[in-house]
Amino acid sequence: MNAVNIQNKDELRDLYRELILDHSRSPRHFGKLADATHTAEGINPLCGDKLRLYLRLDENAVIADVSFEGSGCAISVASASLLTDIVIGTTVDTAQDYVQAVTRHLTAAKPAELEPIDLGKIRALDGVREFPARVKCATLAWQALSSAIQQQATPVTTE
Ligand code: ZN
Repeated sequence: MNAVNIQNKDELRDLYRELILDHSRSPRHFGKLADATHTAEGINPLCGDKLRLYLRLDENAVIADVSFEGSGCAISVASASLLTDIVIGTTVDTAQDYVQAVTRHLTAAKPAELEPIDLGKIRALDGVREFPARVKCATLAWQALSSAIQQQATPVTTE
């Protein structure tokens, strides 16, 4: 992303809204991963979001490829799409750090000014902080990622 000089909060909000809409309309890495080594399902019954995440880990525990499929609201799809962009090429340890940071960032009463890991575009999801029900939409894919890395057989649910 280009360096953008943000003039005010409304401008930042508009940018974030555009990013969410873009990722929800054209999700990245969407579809089944044929040679996946790890997979997990995430279900958010409150909203009706349902997605499956696929990972292909290489011998060094690096996420060589990632994809997701399923359906849900714009927030859940955009979050999953952003996730795939961010964790591809990272180690599973770094991916878990992202899961922790994103979850903490979206659920803490007051977000830390500085997370140990750069959240980057994930900050586009900040708007959901004002809507507790939507937080589950935003964190669903991340929970599925953590579950897939740990090879859990049962689907994760936000309930
Ligand atoms: Zn949702």
